[in-house]
Amino acid sequence: MTLRKIAQIGHPVLRQVARPLSRDELLSPWGQQLIDDLIATMHDADGAGLAAPQVYESVRVCVIEVGQNPRYPYKPKIPLTVLVNPVLTPLTTRTFSNFEGCLSVPNLRGRVDRFCELQVQAWDRHGQALDFVTRGISAGTFQHEVDHLDATLFIDRVRDPRSLCTWQEFERQHREQFIKEVQGVVAEFGS
Ligand code: ZN
Repeated sequence: MTLRKIAQIGHPVLRQVARPLSRDELLSPWGQQLIDDLIATMHDADGAGLAAPQVYESVRVCVIEVGQNPRYPYKPKIPLTVLVNPVLTPLTTRTFSNFEGCLSVPNLRGRVDRFCELQVQAWDRHGQALDFVTRGISAGTFQHEVDHLDATLFIDRVRDPRSLCTWQEFERQHREQFIKEVQGVVAEFGS
């Protein structure tokens, strides 16, 4: 495993729509190494997820995992999930206001509306079909990562730019209110 550099906002790779991966590419040493590196780099950076364009590879692969995360201690847990060529289908028009950050957008957080319930269809790292439903705060994490594959950053979806804040001011000014909201979402959706 190799830790990769994380592309920062302004680099064109983050603004390029990523291409699908063929099964042969996925199963090749290159494809498996990319996935191992994404996981290692996500863990090293304490990310909740990481998409291949964030490590300068414009292909439709992302990884997600939420355990005890110091960046997001209030997030419900998500087991390690590798998504290849994912398709997300909202199962409701209902949204919640998520307070997001991104490893490619240093020291900025902001409020983004995310669907409360989604169907996730993808391949896993072995090319086996995945098909499951994700809800609540966890659904927000999936939407954030798959957005990267479509050249979209969370700041593009911030409805009110006045919600933007540094991580320090989030902790000082907004954390308490947001945790109350998270608890409400988790109580309703279980995640
Ligand atoms: Zn991101």
